[in-house]
Amino acid sequence: KFSPILPAAHPPAWLGVMGGGQLGRMFAQAAQAMGYQVAVLEPADACPAGQVAQRLVNAGYSDAAGLDALAAQCAAVTTEFENVPADSLSRLAQSVFVAPNAHGVSVAQDRIAEKSFFVGCAPKSGVLPAPHKVIAAQEDIDAIGDELLPGILKTVRMGYDGKGQVRVKSRADVQAAFESMGKVTCLLEKMLPLAYEVSVLTARGHDGESVVYPIAENVHRDGILFTTTVPGPNVSDESALKAQQAAQAIVAELGYVGVLCIEFFVLTDGSLVVNEMAPRPHNSGHYTMDACVTSQFAQQVRAMARLPLGDVRQHSPAVMLNILGDVWFTDDSDATREPAWHEILALPGANLHLYGKDDPRRARKMGHLTFVAPTLAQAQQQLNAACAILG
Ligand code: ADP
Ligand code: MG
Repeated sequence: KFSPILPAAHPPAWLGVMGGGQLGRMFAQAAQAMGYQVAVLEPADACPAGQVAQRLVNAGYSDAAGLDALAAQCAAVTTEFENVPADSLSRLAQSVFVAPNAHGVSVAQDRIAEKSFFVGCAPKSGVLPAPHKVIAAQEDIDAIGDELLPGILKTVRMGYDGKGQVRVKSRADVQAAFESMGKVTCLLEKMLPLAYEVSVLTARGHDGESVVYPIAENVHRDGILFTTTVPGPNVSDESALKAQQAAQAIVAELGYVGVLCIEFFVLTDGSLVVNEMAPRPHNSGHYTMDACVTSQFAQQVRAMARLPLGDVRQHSPAVMLNILGDVWFTDDSDATREPAWHEILALPGANLHLYGKDDPRRARKMGHLTFVAPTLAQAQQQLNAACAILG
């Protein structure tokens, strides 16, 4: 609908973002640094992005009046969370440039559509997802063969940070897990022998130009990203190149515009498996804020405003540590105390990012820390020191 020669949006135009979380906040900060004005649509009146945006449209994600207000004000609109209703993006797209569009987001927010897309794309990307099967009814459970067990049962929609997932060893386990999740449609995935996990952050412009950031190695704890290390200590040049090429093939096939992050598994035999994608900046790309020429948030601004994409070059080795609400608690009680930021910030190469959330809760993402240093070993050493301080 919009021609590729639709003019670029220049500052001080308004850029809109669906969602008021920390990704929206960091997007707004990057956009504002370039002179844009930012409007956030979010139903909660207190939210990380609302604290910094010039305008907060307080409305539900499907609220027609709210969407129309955002479209009327903005030169372009993006999303900071993948579960934004695809219909809302379609409505916005009737009157304003939207990146990513409803199609890309709807594929990424449904594990069945996502896996089918990866399978269809395999001749071009060279990578397949884990063997899997849709579990929607009793017959599907009865028909499970041994080849998918042990496995992981994942809800098709709304899963994140390991939520909506149960590890299963037998058909009886699948039955119990399916019932415990209220019999919503699920995907049973074969449990694979992971050597390590990586993610590839990409950005694609409206003209089809795409860029790929260095490959990031991720460690999860309790289903939540714990650290991201770039360059990844385990990543071989061969698997890095393969994952980067696969990522570029995937965004091209999707006809995607904007920042997108793809998670891959590297198996113990060295083979590469594509897991899932996030149609937005990603937690594993936060290191780009302090270690790359163009951060993933500035890149999203460029892509949605139809400006040239920025340089993805990494200028320092980096390690990112997520800061969860847990570090505000010292014991099992509800008593909280502020972490010793003065000690953390005394460590060389420390960059602290807090998201403005005033109530720390366990497992809640409150911020992150990125250490940059001349060598990866030095960055890792400072990160270990930070972990010791945070407890
Ligand atoms: P989420 O949307 O919660 O991030 P993922 O599919 O990424 O869901 O799964 C979360 C984590 O569970 C992965 O990062 C990985 O550590 C593990 N995992 C997921 N699928 C598999 C699999 N098929 N085999 C082995 N481990 C897996
Ligand atoms: Mg994941």
